[in-house]
Amino acid sequence: MFSDRVLMGPGPSNPYPEVVSAFTRPLLGHLDPEFLEVLDETCDRLRAVYRTSNSLTLPVSGTGSAGMEAAFVNLVGPGDVAVVGVNGLFGERMCEVAARLGAEVVRVDAPWGEPLDPVALVEAHPSPAVIALVHAETSTGVRNDVEDVARGKGDALLLVDAVTSLGGIPFDADLWGVDLAYSGTQKCLGVPPGLSPLTVGPQARARLKQRPSSWYLDLGLIAHYVEGAGGRTYHHTAPVSMIFALHAGLGVLLQEGLEGSWARHEACGRALQAGLEKLGFELVAPAAHRLPQLTTVWVPDDLGGLSEADVRATLLQRYGIEIGAGVGVMAGRAWRIGCMGHTARPRNVELLLGALEEVLGR
Ligand code: PLP
Repeated sequence: MFSDRVLMGPGPSNPYPEVVSAFTRPLLGHLDPEFLEVLDETCDRLRAVYRTSNSLTLPVSGTGSAGMEAAFVNLVGPGDVAVVGVNGLFGERMCEVAARLGAEVVRVDAPWGEPLDPVALVEAHPSPAVIALVHAETSTGVRNDVEDVARGKGDALLLVDAVTSLGGIPFDADLWGVDLAYSGTQKCLGVPPGLSPLTVGPQARARLKQRPSSWYLDLGLIAHYVEGAGGRTYHHTAPVSMIFALHAGLGVLLQEGLEGSWARHEACGRALQAGLEKLGFELVAPAAHRLPQLTTVWVPDDLGGLSEADVRATLLQRYGIEIGAGVGVMAGRAWRIGCMGHTARPRNVELLLGALEEVLGR
């Protein structure tokens, strides 16, 4: 039986119908000229969504974490200094990935639920190889100010996690001066999980590690297949159906227009947040850095005798709505409610608010 879930967790979001149809497209070989045309167009569409002219812009085979690994393994090696902003789970993960590569990790922490201080990031070390931060912290619902870090980064390469931001809030890789960014398909792009759109700017490209410690994620090797310079050479078998799906999702997004998609996410997120406050919920993130596409609320003390897990289970079982639990220091204390991709529609906001009102008897 097909599920009719409304996916309002931190991810995945509901895919666009055009994306679902794309999965039924007959399979092509990954070196078939017809497929390579779709791949090239997908990379063009990614350049449009990232707002970049970076030639090396591609969907990495794997989820958002594969993009994170690819970013670090190609830019950071033993002894390199990596300044990492940490105000949530995914900043923590960046530290772990960089440390495993032997980097000297310089952490710049902010409390979970607060934004990072851009000045602290750019002043943390006199000559880091990279400064890395998460644009939209999915664990807390906080937006970090990438532009301000980009302005002060000096010679360091700026590495940005755009997993939850791309397509949902403004991201302007070239205008801001982002050297490398990666994302995920399952959030604001409205495509199931499985690929990590990644873009590499000229300065980062010039500093890509030769023979990085991952063969699979070696961007220098993958570039031969994606860019096709001197003929396409096989690196690994491209996940053809996922690329069809991403191609379709990006088509929907660009037809709506980036500004249109940002405005839709903004309108739905703010309506949800206003509705939650009206129901008596306290929002976690401060207003100036509150993401529209991912809202965190503190779980109220009085849930009418239910546990927080009971409430989420009831929403799922009775109403078919998934919301996310808190993680890390917010486990059991907060809920994370996504409004991303195809899910970001007024009807879903109303459905959730109505369901919460009924379950909590407010
Ligand atoms: N970075 C951020 C900000 C995320 O929200 C996520 C996943 O939710 C990831 C990285 C990891 O992505 P994935 O779970 O697709 O591997």
